[in-house]
Amino acid sequence: MVSSPDCVREQLKILQKEYQQQLPSQILQISEIWQKLVCKQGQVDDWKKLHCLIHRMVGSGATFGMSQLSDTARRMEGYITDMMAMKSHPTAAQQALINTVLDELKQVAIGPQWQVIGGIEERHISEKIQPFKKIFIEEKYQENINSKNVIFLIEDDQCQAKDLAVQLSCFGYTIRTFKALKGLEKAIEVMSPAAVIMDIMWPEGQMAGTEIIREIQESLNSPLPVLFISARDDLQARLQAAYFHKPVDIGSLIDKLDSLTAHETRDPHRILIVDDESILANYHAKILLKAGMVTEVVTDPMQVMQSLVYFKPELILMDMYMPGCNGLELASVIRQQDAYVSIPIVFLSVETDVEQQLTAMHLGGDEFLTKPIEPQHLIAEVKSRVERSRIVSSFMERDSLTGLLNHTKIKERLSIEVTRAKRQQSPMSFAMIDIDCFKGVNDIFGHSIGDRVIESLSRLLKQRLRKTDIIGRYGGEEFAVILPDTDAKGAAKVLNEIREGFAKVRQLAQDNHEFSVTFSCGVAAFPEYGEANILNEAADKALYQAKRSGRNQLAEASRSGC
Ligand code: GH3
Ligand code: MG
Ligand code: MG
Repeated sequence: MVSSPDCVREQLKILQKEYQQQLPSQILQISEIWQKLVCKQGQVDDWKKLHCLIHRMVGSGATFGMSQLSDTARRMEGYITDMMAMKSHPTAAQQALINTVLDELKQVAIGPQWQVIGGIEERHISEKIQPFKKIFIEEKYQENINSKNVIFLIEDDQCQAKDLAVQLSCFGYTIRTFKALKGLEKAIEVMSPAAVIMDIMWPEGQMAGTEIIREIQESLNSPLPVLFISARDDLQARLQAAYFHKPVDIGSLIDKLDSLTAHETRDPHRILIVDDESILANYHAKILLKAGMVTEVVTDPMQVMQSLVYFKPELILMDMYMPGCNGLELASVIRQQDAYVSIPIVFLSVETDVEQQLTAMHLGGDEFLTKPIEPQHLIAEVKSRVERSRIVSSFMERDSLTGLLNHTKIKERLSIEVTRAKRQQSPMSFAMIDIDCFKGVNDIFGHSIGDRVIESLSRLLKQRLRKTDIIGRYGGEEFAVILPDTDAKGAAKVLNEIREGFAKVRQLAQDNHEFSVTFSCGVAAFPEYGEANILNEAADKALYQAKRSGRNQLAEASRSGC
């Protein structure tokens, strides 16, 4: 989904050319408005329009590397601001001044760089690139299986290999098993797995597994994550960095696998860019895209609210001056809504006046960056703000044991998702899950083993559901899942698969004692149940029905049955 750096660099260059190509028409527009004002045909709005156009050029010129253009525009902006303050018709001297600056502007814009552009070829290219509007990362259930979660399991004991493969596949990993060391190196060359799980002892030698891995690692450009498993319990075996003693504790193994592959599955930062000048907005979007972020560009400030709901940005990069509603006003409107009180807002403007910058901060801005900004600086600022805000919100919204949304948050999300489903007239499902006879687990194996069972179910849900599904810990051993764009049948299918998978997971207690646990589930769907609280109640009743019918099963809410 993310373009390669080379490709983005190429697109940036094209954007720069595109910017230069549209300069003459911008200057013409400035010139025409100015003429209108000089001939006393202009309105008050024309002064504002003129100021806005020239102000934009200060920022965009600098951003696209045309510093002379930016400086000249800044001078002109100063003169225009003074004339606007005087509120009288420009004097002859002022007119002459502006005409001279306008000429300079034309010279700079239509100067040497201009002649190299403008050919049919170039125009053809620029027409082809549409400023990208929306980049959504959408995942389907089946897309959970891709090369990112393919694990090579190298184990000569076929029974153990099969057992481990079944366990791991319950957590969304795709397992390729190898029963011999021969051919492994070739297989890794053909397709690099997310990780390798390797038995240490082989007929070839007591430590043959670690030796072959060492040889393979030496031939690779970047190291491959490897986990060793063995029935050996001596120091030499344990010295392997990631070592699991057989029988393997599946929970710890999955934790390790998740952490090794985590950097690839982390959600990209979602940035909303608000700037009336689309070419500049797209330029900044491309810089952030190059750094692996997901962006949406909004050039009309009136569209921002809609974008907040649909795109769900984690940070807003906002221009200060825009026609209709400036950045400061917009920031304070956004901040008035509870849901967006803490969303970081970073202003990006040519404004160098400290007073103005302080006003921006006062009105809810988190940071003020001046245009032009170095791409690396922009990326670093945005990244650190989003990271910090992710940490803060995770403390407030997430359950500390599982990292899932807490009770309050999942209920809040249910209301939001029901509203969205109504608006889009799309189905959505809500499921309540409760671990069966969990009190018994605590009584027999202790509270800490119980906690690990809760964690294992949470892990399984995260692995098996789509990125777009929302999972929460509703209470002690109860979970709630929101499945957007999914009807009751679809939700029941996927949750039943998870239920069957969970029952197969081997839980490990003290002294290598193994046991398994099941859960029951109730599902209700929109539009059959049209409000969040009704949906919640219906799913809860369905869960109760599943419990009453014997547990380890799923029940769909129905108006007649429950
Ligand atoms: P049912 O099949 O009817 O759901 O039976 P149950 O035993 O699962 O249900 P019950 O509500 O009787 O017991 C739930 C138990 O879950 C009681 C409580 O001590 C335990 N529990 C709640 N939160 C946690 C937790 O965070 N960790 C652990 N280990 N246990 C918890
Ligand atoms: Mg319960
Ligand atoms: Mg229970």
